Amino acid sequence: MKILVANLGSTSFKYRLISFDGDDATVLAKGGYERVTDYESTLNECLESLSAGGHLSSPSDLDGVGFKTVVADGVSGCLELDDKVLDAMARCNDLAPAHNPPYITGIRQFRKALPGVPLIGLFETAFYQWIPEPAKRYAVPASWYEAGIRRWGFHGASHKFIAERSAEIMDRPDVAGHVRDLYITDQPVREFERPLRVVSLHLGGSSSVTGIHNGVAIGNSMGFSPQSGLPQNNRVGDLDSFAVPLMMRRRGLGVDEIEKALSRESGLLGLSGVSNDLRDIDKAAAEGNANAALAIDYLVHQARHWAGAYLLQMGGVDGIVFTAGIGENRADLRARICAGLGELGVEIDSNLNESVRGSEGLISAAGSRVKVMVIPANEELVVAREARRFIQKNRN
Ligand code: ADP
Repeated sequence: MKILVANLGSTSFKYRLISFDGDDATVLAKGGYERVTDYESTLNECLESLSAGGHLSSPSDLDGVGFKTVVADGVSGCLELDDKVLDAMARCNDLAPAHNPPYITGIRQFRKALPGVPLIGLFETAFYQWIPEPAKRYAVPASWYEAGIRRWGFHGASHKFIAERSAEIMDRPDVAGHVRDLYITDQPVREFERPLRVVSLHLGGSSSVTGIHNGVAIGNSMGFSPQSGLPQNNRVGDLDSFAVPLMMRRRGLGVDEIEKALSRESGLLGLSGVSNDLRDIDKAAAEGNANAALAIDYLVHQARHWAGAYLLQMGGVDGIVFTAGIGENRADLRARICAGLGELGVEIDSNLNESVRGSEGLISAAGSRVKVMVIPANEELVVAREARRFIQKNRN
């Protein structure tokens, strides 16, 4: 079975073609396009190159396309992206303005380009279906909750991969197997003789921290929208809700201006005043820009804040994982996030830490009770597997 996993940005299209032989997945091809104005013609270009490369004999050789969809009103999990689901996504456009609109446009264009090929979405919220009720809520009046104001949690595909892979690395095939089947199991929350508690830090263009108990998420630092939690590249992260009416009154800002400021001009860009990319911020900090240095300190502070929250909720931690662009490549920030935690059993081996860059590896010292790991993100594999499972279930 061949599944194309499509990652759509507002002007980008990245893809991976994944082939399954039984449960074994192989990436046949991957690539991407920038400055995309029309997903349909870009997809056709992509399909042609996959055929030319011998990976597909024709577009109908594709069994399905999987999308890492973000959030939809009232639905989650792994679903066929029909009009009903796209409408439910559109009702959440103001929750995820950077994500939902390009996905909806792109999926409609994919449908035209690939008639008859199932288009499947694995929602980023799906991994948080089983989080405890208090972790799903805000302390708002019932009418607000009924209007949809609740915590969701995002980066679900990434943290689910971490849940599985970290369990394998920590020699816990029982938990890893449980995670692999998580979206189909009747008993998502399972007790094991030995519990496995993992804090997963996805630090990249957007960042979030998840607590994972026995393979199942107990919460995520992103709440109602992907604008919350840690500072994002240009999105705000956590903010006291009363700041919004204050800025509206004091500075006469309208709703659109508020939304623009919080979703495009804040986060690491807002704090540093330099860039939304940490590499540029670093350079500025090294040249003495104090705001740039503060942006980096703030990211470290918030990562520790959320990791600490889940450590306490789980009564301790057995594994800490760093993933995504910053988590995989920035040994200095990994060291700062884990600094001074010897009493909690966390000790980094600085040579190991420096040697791991963009690849999988253990970075904790031999005597460290808590295993600290770097695991490259692999959201595409999770999406492809779920799309395959969905297609197989619906064929039978
Ligand atoms: P996205 O969330 O957009 O997929 P990434 O996971 O690639 O983005 O994370 C982007 C962030 O990671 C940027 O702030 C960038 O500075 C940092 N980053 C990505 N790759 C590297 C690298 N090779 N070395 C250092 N930093 C990197």
